[in-house]
Amino acid sequence: MSDASLRITEIFYSLQGEARTIGLPTVFVRLTGCPLRCGYCDSEYAFYGGERMLLTDILAAVANFNPRYICVTGGEPLAQPNCLPLLSALCDAGYSVSLETSGAMDIAGVDARVSTVMDLKSPSSGEVSKNRYENIPLLAKKDQLKFVLGSREDYDWAKFKLDEFGLAQQVGDVLFSPVHGELAERDLADWIVEDNLPVRFQMQLHKLLWGDKPGV
Ligand code: SF4
Repeated sequence: MSDASLRITEIFYSLQGEARTIGLPTVFVRLTGCPLRCGYCDSEYAFYGGERMLLTDILAAVANFNPRYICVTGGEPLAQPNCLPLLSALCDAGYSVSLETSGAMDIAGVDARVSTVMDLKSPSSGEVSKNRYENIPLLAKKDQLKFVLGSREDYDWAKFKLDEFGLAQQVGDVLFSPVHGELAERDLADWIVEDNLPVRFQMQLHKLLWGDKPGV
């Protein structure tokens, strides 16, 4: 596997902007490419281009930051098969590793030491038909499920899925996040409290701190 390579858009050190490790200094490894086209996507710059890097060079680049937490993201990282050996190599190196994935790809091969943060795509994303519900039983308490919501219709759909699949019992955290500019943060917060949902409201910390730009 020493000659394994991946196409990489960027490797950078920042604060984790969301999910369970929010606020913790984290190295982000952003893999190039995604087969989906969500209407609210904020990482379209990762669809194309990037630089092909050997797995060993990726590990060296990560180690330069002397980090504790690594987030492998995209694009859709699992669209590149060598994402799986990368995840295992990062775990072997002793890092705490998370994977952000769209929910459209098979997660069966993901190293059991990785905390998977998997999306279920809501109707307003335009990609709801891509959800791979077979992934849900593969998730565990170390994992998280994320809904990015752009409307009341999305919220009601997510509430239904929460109940249909018993999601709060399946994973450690279910995350509800508003699409910035589409759904008022306050409305989503109020609905969650009114309905007493077993979910975690979140806003993207890195965007509050640094705005909507690559590499932060
Ligand atoms: S899955 Fe993620 S990277 Fe791909 S289009 Fe949707 S939001 Fe963008």
